[in-house]
Amino acid sequence: MDLAIKYRVPPGTRVDLTQWRTDDAQGVDRDAAEARLAENIDALQKLQYRLYAEKKQSLLVVLQAMDTAGKDSTIRYVFGPLNPAGVRVKAFGRPTDYELSHDFLWRIHQHTPRQGFIQIFNRSHYEDVLVVRVNELVPESVWRERYDIINAFERSLCEARTRVVKIYLHLDKARQKEKLAERLTKPHKLWKFEMGDFDTRRKWDDYMRAYEDAITRCNTDHAPWHIVPTDRKWYRLLAVSEIVRAELERMDPKLPEPTIDRAEALRKLDEIG
Ligand code: ADP
Repeated sequence: MDLAIKYRVPPGTRVDLTQWRTDDAQGVDRDAAEARLAENIDALQKLQYRLYAEKKQSLLVVLQAMDTAGKDSTIRYVFGPLNPAGVRVKAFGRPTDYELSHDFLWRIHQHTPRQGFIQIFNRSHYEDVLVVRVNELVPESVWRERYDIINAFERSLCEARTRVVKIYLHLDKARQKEKLAERLTKPHKLWKFEMGDFDTRRKWDDYMRAYEDAITRCNTDHAPWHIVPTDRKWYRLLAVSEIVRAELERMDPKLPEPTIDRAEALRKLDEIG
């Protein structure tokens, strides 16, 4: 089963999130999922090594989700084992006044990956058509324009050989309630709780509509969306690792050709001692 293809949103289709399962596991059990995750991580490490050495292309992974879906743990488990020299993580919170005094992509563009790097966005420019839309932080005429602007922006990244992979972690609403309750009962998780989370939860349906529009309108060949079932952590990690692995395999980074004559270098090493 090719999970990367299974969860890729078919191009040109209108997304209805009620038709996408949050608890799918494709008949895979936890042990098998964990074994495959370990294999994927091993493959990712090798692919990253080649990407970093090649320095000709880069990968941007955009993670979006409702609160408690597990963006942070996904980053930790899937990307944590990679060489930190070649990975960057950027979380986008509420924009500062200074950021807001620019166009909405200004703060984003500064964090797109340079050649050889993997960049992960924990939230992203999509917040500008999600939270901004739901909370009416700008007029509708402004956010409506943004889908086209985002598509053009991602296209320009693609032309600079940055592959953009977008992943929505699709969480069930009832499952979110369990996870919020867990945050409230486990002392070490309490710091993550914000009263604002209730406001977002109350507006769940509006968020789902905003996600459906964002995914439908910005699901391009050059920057595809994936919708990953998220209720079970071990399956979410497996699916995300499959998607990223498939993408890096498609990019197929190559070690640079050596610029030296090996025999001569070995001779020299002997000579210098
Ligand atoms: P997280 O919830 O991802 O763990 P934070 O607690 O820092 O991280 O929350 C980030 C908050 O910033 C979220 O409520 C999100 O909606 C908000 N945010 C992100 N981007 C924007 C934006 N462009 N405009 C307004 N709010 C934003």
